Amino acid sequence: MCRYDTVTIIPFDMQEQPWYEALRDSLEEIFAVPVRYRPQIPLPQSAYDASRKQYAGEPFLQRLFSLERASGEILLGITREDLYASGMNFIFGLASPAGVCVIALKRLDDRFYGLPENHTRYFRRILTEAVHEIGHVLGLPHCENPRCVMHFSNSLADTDAKGYRFCPVCEKRVKEAICRR
Ligand code: ZN
Ligand code: ZN
Repeated sequence: MCRYDTVTIIPFDMQEQPWYEALRDSLEEIFAVPVRYRPQIPLPQSAYDASRKQYAGEPFLQRLFSLERASGEILLGITREDLYASGMNFIFGLASPAGVCVIALKRLDDRFYGLPENHTRYFRRILTEAVHEIGHVLGLPHCENPRCVMHFSNSLADTDAKGYRFCPVCEKRVKEAICRR
């Protein structure tokens, strides 16, 4: 049975970026649901760990859960901060099947690794991680197909290799979870 019919992107402490429109348009095309932005909201400051210089990821989901949300609405948080989860040095994103997810952009930018900025690669990674986390919200587990967006990413090389498309098996599950008008 389908559960979700719209995606809302919520920036954490981030002004509009040059790639905002492209992200919205790409997600609308991939999931075939309306996608829109809500105004930015503050970072969950209590999630900051000064010794790690990172934010815990879970409080971002809690912040999103605290917002008003329609029953079929998926909330996708985006932050430029670096996130971690217990047992992980860092995470690219985090999701709950109850309707919210977040992606962390910091490690998707080549400049984090001392490399020159690459807009094309940066945007492709943002889209890939966004699609992956929304996939988890839709109930998809990790996929063994290394070309599928639901393949687990342990590194940026994995993210770059798999791209932002679902394999046919995952695509079928996405279609079942999305309510098309
Ligand atoms: Zn995952
Ligand atoms: Zn797959």
